[in-house]
Amino acid sequence: MRSPLAYCPVCATALVDRLLHAGTAEERTRRVCPNQACGWTHWDNPVPVVAAVVEIATEAGAKIILVQNRGWPDNWWGLVTGFLERGEHPEAAVVREVQEELGLAGRVAGFIGHYDYADMNQLIIAYHVVAEGEVALGDELQAFKPVPLEKLKPWPFATGLAVADFLKRR
Ligand SMILES: [Zn+2]
Repeated sequence: MRSPLAYCPVCATALVDRLLHAGTAEERTRRVCPNQACGWTHWDNPVPVVAAVVEIATEAGAKIILVQNRGWPDNWWGLVTGFLERGEHPEAAVVREVQEELGLAGRVAGFIGHYDYADMNQLIIAYHVVAEGEVALGDELQAFKPVPLEKLKPWPFATGLAVADFLKRR
């Protein structure tokens, strides 16, 4: 989990945890500003993140590109992910991320699903992206591996849930 926000971004008072709407469906513990004149609340809403199951056609058949972010252990692999720019449609964002992170020209071939990733306070929006070209890694990645479609195995959290749904529907 992320460490909680410590100070009010409006008046710099130390924030406190407060149970709001106790006993109702909206009951939540929120970080709030105890300064009566301010009363700022940290809603801590999830951040949308786009993710791509990137498929490339090779002579040996279809392959899915898994990637490793900088700083990840050698055995961790995931999907290309990224944040939306203000006003950007998620489909445009996922194609842009595939271009930036893999150097591949892609197109959205289908929507896979939305996935809650509470540990990172993210909402993952996953697409199947068909791409072509030679991979050229962007700044945020340290490695990639093309995995034959029939050998692709989902992992049980985050973008792995999108991989599982992608495989189920093939
Ligand atoms: Zn405040």
